[in-house]
Amino acid sequence: MNAAEMLKLDPTLSKGGADFIDDQRIASLLFSEPTDTVRVREIIAKSLAKNALSVEETAVLLRCTDPQIEQEILEGARTLKRRVYGNRIVLFAPLYIGSLCVNDCEYCGFKRSNHETVRTTLDAAALKAEVKALEDAGHKRLILVFGEHPRYDAQFIADSVRTTYAVQSGEHGEIRRVNVNAAPMDHAGFRTVRGSGIGTWQIFQETYHHATYARVHGANTMKSDYLWRLDGMDRAMESGIDDVGLGALFGLYDWRFEVLGLVSHALHLQDKYRVGPHTISFPRLQAASGVEIDPRWQVSDKDFAKLVAVLRLAVPYTGLILTAREPVHIRNQLIEFGVSQIDGGTKLGLGSYSEGAADGAQEQDLKREQFHVGDTRSLDQVMQELINKSELPSFCTACYRLGRTGEHFMEFAVPGFIKKFCTPNALTTLQEYLVDYAPPETRAKGQALIASELAKIEDAKLKGEVERRLELIRTSDARDLYF
Ligand code: SAM
Ligand code: SF4
Repeated sequence: MNAAEMLKLDPTLSKGGADFIDDQRIASLLFSEPTDTVRVREIIAKSLAKNALSVEETAVLLRCTDPQIEQEILEGARTLKRRVYGNRIVLFAPLYIGSLCVNDCEYCGFKRSNHETVRTTLDAAALKAEVKALEDAGHKRLILVFGEHPRYDAQFIADSVRTTYAVQSGEHGEIRRVNVNAAPMDHAGFRTVRGSGIGTWQIFQETYHHATYARVHGANTMKSDYLWRLDGMDRAMESGIDDVGLGALFGLYDWRFEVLGLVSHALHLQDKYRVGPHTISFPRLQAASGVEIDPRWQVSDKDFAKLVAVLRLAVPYTGLILTAREPVHIRNQLIEFGVSQIDGGTKLGLGSYSEGAADGAQEQDLKREQFHVGDTRSLDQVMQELINKSELPSFCTACYRLGRTGEHFMEFAVPGFIKKFCTPNALTTLQEYLVDYAPPETRAKGQALIASELAKIEDAKLKGEVERRLELIRTSDARDLYF
C-alpha cells in the first residue's frame, strides 16, 4: 500500500496543477550581480505605494549587500508596516491536538523514526480542558496543530474544530476563530473541514528547493511528495477555503531561495485564483528531540531581520506571523519590521495548557513537544510588553466572520479600512481582555493605551460609537461588538 492509499487520499491534483517552482531560475536570480542603488530604491518605492513585488524585484532586494541600502530596506518595511497595519498586533495561541505521525521529516521531533517521542492524541475531554484553559487566559483565536496520520483524517479535524468552538468557559469565554495547521488534504477532505467553519488553513512547504525537500523528507512518505504539498493550497482554494497560510522552515536551505519560493507561491495563488495567501510564516529551525541542525543553513539574527523586511515589502497585504519559537528580543525587534501576528502564552506540550504548569517557569520536555520554544511568557506578560511599547494588541476576528476573507479581504485591505474597522475592533477586543481577564496593572496600562488611541480617531461619529461600545463592555455583559 502506498502512502496515499494508507491515508485514504484521492491523489487528484487541482485543475491544471503543476510544479511552478523553477529552482534554476530562482538560483540564477539570486546569484547574479548586485543591482545598482537607484533600482533598489525604485523597488522600495513601488512597495511603499502598496504594490506587490515580482520575484525578480524581490531578488534585487535580497542580492543587495550594501549596509546603507540594507538599512533603507529595513526602514521601508517599518514604514510600510505602519501604513498598512498601523500599530496593531493580532494575538493567537497554538493548540497541539496530536503527535502521531506517519512521516519522517528530518527536522521534526514528531517524525516516525523518533522513538523517544511520547505520542499523544487529545480526546474530546482533554481538548475541551485545553480550550477552557486558553479561554480563561483571554484567548479568542487558536490554531489547531496535527501530525499526519490516518487517525487525523478530515472528519477528525472537523470534529476538533467544532468541539473547540463549542467550549464556553465562564461568562465571556469563547473561541471566535479556529485556524488549522495540518497536512494537505484531498478536495473532499478540505470540503469536510471547511464545513466546520475554520479560518485559515496553514501548510508550510518547509523548503522550496527540490533536492533539499527530497533529502529531508523520508522516502515513500506522503510528505515526500513535493507536488502534492505544493498543490495543497490550490486544492484548498478549489474546495472553498479561500483563506490560506503559506510558510517555509528556515534552516534547511539558503534562506534567500526560500523567500523567493514563498513569493513565487503567493504570486501563483494570486494569478490563478485572484486571491493571495492571508498569511506567511517563516519559522527558524529549533532544537528538537532526535534532530540535528545543519549549521550551513542557519539564519543569523541579522539575516532574519532582512528576511522579514524583504517579505514585508514583497507582499504588502499578506499578514506575517512570527511565533514563540523566537526569543523575546527578536520578537520585539521584528514586530517593527512587518510582523502582524504573534502567539502569546504558548505551550507546545499536548495537554499542557490545562495541566496548569506555571508560565515561563517550566522546563520544556522535548520528548513530548515538537521543538524548543524561545518565548515562554504568559499571554498577560506578552500583552503588557506590547502595551508598554504602544503596540495595540488585537483579538479581532471580524473580517472572517463577516465574510471579508479571500478576494473580499483583498478588496478591503485599502486605505481607510484600518482606521474604520481594524483599529476600532482592536480597541474593543482589547477592552474585553482588560475587563474580563487582565490583572490590575495590565488593565490600567491598557486603559491608558485605549485612551491615547481613541484620541487619534479623527472621525467624530466613529469615535463616539467606539466610546459607546467600550463603555458597554465595561459596564455590561455586551461582548463581541465588531465593526
Ligand atoms: N504535520 C503537519 C505538517 O507537516 O504539515 C503539521 C505541521 S507541524 C506540526 C508545524 C510546522 O512546524 C511544520 O510545518 C514545520 O515547518 C515546523 N517545524 C517542524 N519541526 C520544527 C523544528 N524543529 N523547529 C521549528 N519548526 C519546526
Ligand atoms: Fe509529521 Fe509534520 Fe513533523 Fe513532518 S513536520 S514529522 S509531517 S508532524
